[in-house]
Amino acid sequence: VKTKGLIQVYTGDGKGKTTAALGVALRILGHGGRVGVVQFFKSATVNDQRSTKNKSLRVARCALNRHHDAALVAIEKYFGSRLKTWSFGGGFTWSVAREENTKAVQNAWKKCCELLKDPKYNLVILDEIHIALHYKFLKVSDVVKVLKSRRPGQHVILTGRNAPQTIIRLADLVTEMKCVKHPFTCGVLAQPGIEF
Ligand code: ATP
Ligand code: MG
Repeated sequence: VKTKGLIQVYTGDGKGKTTAALGVALRILGHGGRVGVVQFFKSATVNDQRSTKNKSLRVARCALNRHHDAALVAIEKYFGSRLKTWSFGGGFTWSVAREENTKAVQNAWKKCCELLKDPKYNLVILDEIHIALHYKFLKVSDVVKVLKSRRPGQHVILTGRNAPQTIIRLADLVTEMKCVKHPFTCGVLAQPGIEF
């Protein structure tokens, strides 16, 4: 099948960005394709939701530190090496030194560049890359350059809150998840099967 590779952006403060990306991954896999997933700011440590005075910081914490996603584990089990995941990050984003995050982002970005040059991958998911861009761990111009020079048929999905305007302009599809309600505000913490 001839395809036009799309740049898709899932952003906004509502839930559903990463799960939407995984839904597309399943479709690609269902068609026999290959998917590469790079997770920025993900550590395999236990989710910690100690309260912080600053609510947005609290949200950012739970957004960036989770268990390994059970969906990815299940998909890998079923589809084997047709889906591959690389996770980068080590612990609390806001409590670990900026240099540590910089290093993790650099390694994650290196892997992204490899995947975006590899014709094997029909879909590449850059999960939470907007966070890296928003906090200036990564240069928007570098990302734009690599996205533009990828093979024409390759699909890319970029997720994370606060997608930069330049990325939004470049993308073929942009969906903003808007938070209307979230159980977190009623004190319901992350649950297996729903968040990871
Ligand atoms: P998901 O992985 O469930 O699709 P997401 O990728 O859209 O979520 P992220 O910004 O990556 O969302 O944050 C992930 C975590 O933050 C999830 O556990 C999610 O439930 C939680 N979250 C998302 N939106 C909100 C919100 N408005 N308030 C509090 N927590 C939120
Ligand atoms: Mg996410």
